[in-house]
Amino acid sequence: MEINGRTRTCGLFGNPVEHTMSPAIHHFLAEKTGQNLAYLPWCVPQGALPDAVKGALAMDFLGVNVTVPYKNDVIPLLSEVDELAARIGAVNTLVRVGSGFKGYNTDMPGLYRAMRSDGVTFEGEKFLILGAGGAARAVAMMLAEKSVKEIRILNRSFSKAADVAGEINGYLGRELVLPMELSAWRELPAGERFTVIQATNVGMYPKVEDAVIEEPGFYEKVKIGYDLIYNPMETKFMKLVRQSGGEAFHGFKMLLYQGILAFELWTGEKISEELAGLTYAHLLQEMKK
Ligand code: NAP
Repeated sequence: MEINGRTRTCGLFGNPVEHTMSPAIHHFLAEKTGQNLAYLPWCVPQGALPDAVKGALAMDFLGVNVTVPYKNDVIPLLSEVDELAARIGAVNTLVRVGSGFKGYNTDMPGLYRAMRSDGVTFEGEKFLILGAGGAARAVAMMLAEKSVKEIRILNRSFSKAADVAGEINGYLGRELVLPMELSAWRELPAGERFTVIQATNVGMYPKVEDAVIEEPGFYEKVKIGYDLIYNPMETKFMKLVRQSGGEAFHGFKMLLYQGILAFELWTGEKISEELAGLTYAHLLQEMKK
């Protein structure tokens, strides 16, 4: 990568940012598409987000990714918010428009593209979401728009599952989403198998021996298990799914595609599936370092 007077700057605002894989995604894509672009991670201290956004504008950044804990806090600092991001209530990508930034959410379309590329089908399928935090809420919103047959949200705190379900059902004007307590999985209809999206923090490095539901009986109900976690690349949840004969996937492709979508927004380049595959292989190599 050559940095010169025409290099455009992109970056990541979050805290912490030390373990991000995003520079590897964007520098690989920039090299392959001939874009003169540098991507840097910025650890933004608590309370400094407004200054960071102003600074990025003043220094003519091409675009910014935003990660935990700022995906909601950044919204009032933007000049425009894309309709999907507004509905999800979380922004992870800022694109320069005139004198301000427009906020997008590429996490959810990224997850959709990742699941499609892994062969997951949506129309008429029954989904379970484990968790009711920011990611689970966005997943539920994404599924609600994909003609799925049913969505159940299972969460340790029932009230949060009920809030997310109420909000999405209100938006849809029908009862598609059913909230349940996590421990109520035994009440799931007998003989049915679901596509399950694991959207809790449980099982993330370093607590790799944990799964949000441990009982083997639950996994007999899982046709496909999609864990949003990608560190480790095989979570305990995924192992339990496979042991019961289901297919299991990790969240690394979601990370890849949210980056690809951000890159497309910033540069106007369309990334082919072939280049997406090469980028994925490159990231896997980088992960091993
Ligand atoms: P969050 O808002 O903090 O929500 C965490 C969820 O996990 C809540 O539903 C919480 O339940 C549940 N939970 C936490 N500890 C638990 C435990 N010991 N037992 C049962 N449930 C527990 O987090 P988030 O932003 O939604 O992120 C969730 C996961 O998605 C993380 O692992 C994150 O890495 C992953 N993610 C991946 C990508 C990607 O690109 N692959 C992108 C975004 C997020 P309560 O409500 O009961 O507390």
